[in-house]
Amino acid sequence: MSEQANSSTNQNLRTPIVAVLGHVDHGKTSLLDKIRGSTVIEGEAGAITQHIGATAVPLDVVSQVAGGLVDPTEFDLPGLLFIDTPGHHSFTTLRARGGALADIAILVVDVNDGFQPQTEEAIRILKETGTPFVVAANKIDTVPGWNPQEDAPVQQTYEAQSDRVRQSLDEELYRIIGNLSDEGFSSDLYWRVQDFRANIGVIPVSAKTGEGVPDLLTVLMGLAQRYMKEDMEINLAGPGAGTVLEVKEEQGYGTTIDVILYDGTIRPGDTVVVGGGNDTIVTEVRALLKPKALAEMRAEKRFEQVDELRAASGVKIAAPDLDDAMAGAPVRVVGDRDVDDVIEEVEAELASAQVETEEEGVVVKADTLGSLEAMANALEAAEIPVMRAEVGDIAPRDIAVATTVNDESHRAILGFNVDVYPDAEQRAEEKGVHLFTNDVIYQLVDDYDTFVEEREREQR
Ligand code: GDP
Repeated sequence: MSEQANSSTNQNLRTPIVAVLGHVDHGKTSLLDKIRGSTVIEGEAGAITQHIGATAVPLDVVSQVAGGLVDPTEFDLPGLLFIDTPGHHSFTTLRARGGALADIAILVVDVNDGFQPQTEEAIRILKETGTPFVVAANKIDTVPGWNPQEDAPVQQTYEAQSDRVRQSLDEELYRIIGNLSDEGFSSDLYWRVQDFRANIGVIPVSAKTGEGVPDLLTVLMGLAQRYMKEDMEINLAGPGAGTVLEVKEEQGYGTTIDVILYDGTIRPGDTVVVGGGNDTIVTEVRALLKPKALAEMRAEKRFEQVDELRAASGVKIAAPDLDDAMAGAPVRVVGDRDVDDVIEEVEAELASAQVETEEEGVVVKADTLGSLEAMANALEAAEIPVMRAEVGDIAPRDIAVATTVNDESHRAILGFNVDVYPDAEQRAEEKGVHLFTNDVIYQLVDDYDTFVEEREREQR
């Protein structure tokens, strides 16, 4: 048996893919680290598998970490696959057949800080993609007077606090629940939640001490089980389908793509179709690579070659001609299908992410295809015309494009999650092109709107 987490009794259910999102500094990275850390400690060596871009936690390890809260015999799922890159953009930009790549999500909210712009943005994205989620109300250890109870379910810890301490936490927790209901969700503290589909569980946790992490995993498993059973038709033995996380140069392998495989199987020698920057790429898998076990890391090569990978997995694919591949692009194993049919499928998927452009309008740059699509939706809703939309950092060429528009308020470049080349910045100043960059989409839209309003006021 390979070390992948899909030795399921129900062959049609694959490992659910989990994304962690929330506002900056609310504890996404810490929570992921804690989940990884506790699974490494609880699991026998090698039980938890480091993938490319993701961490797989098999069901028995989830069950051990959950300290009896998860009874493995009640679940058909092989475990959970956590996408390692936290943040909403890693979530929106990673798509699978037009929907979200992640099957379920954890929304992290700092109990002291409550809902913040990126929390709201995350909620909007979760709503749009119809992704079920749980809320981790993080940093409960910072509640004044909090008295941690090691290894107890968080409900017990919560109940063991003094009235005063519990009250001050309650205020924050109910504010979060109130915010969720303002967003149209019904939610409650998790120990009152019966139906994880109709109700969103709010789970008090501390990514620092680990309190509540077992509870969080329990609720996540319950949510995943329901969701995967109702909504997932997966053919694990069929031709693989995935999404590019990153395009990377690797010594000895040339340009490689890091891919989350969400469906089917992939093997070396497979013909694959990859959505490219300019044209769709058809190539043959030379090697499938995964990270070597930590102990062997010092060895010269960081990767180990594997003969087969099944969904859900994170994998690095080495193949010729990958230079034009893009993050967020679809990947398909051709299998015994007609290659032209598969190309058509991939191109249709890419086209659905294309942005309609007009003669007059702003220039939009974003880090991936998915975020470009999300930007396009937001701009359309705000009735801001778009002249050009592309993946990539803001370069001098973009300034040149922006200077061609007549309406000065459209001489603007909106960059989501991208950098600005220094010479582009200088050029923009010279040419009177306004640059807006942000990693929250609606703030970008707001900033641009404010700029337009101010211009109009000045002209009156
Ligand atoms: P991210 O930006 O959402 O990934 O947040 P990080 O995981 O980087 O956390 C931001 C800061 O909050 C760091 O200084 C963490 O150490 C701290 N932090 C995260 N979770 C907790 C927690 O549960 N308790 C406490 N006291 N600090 C936390």
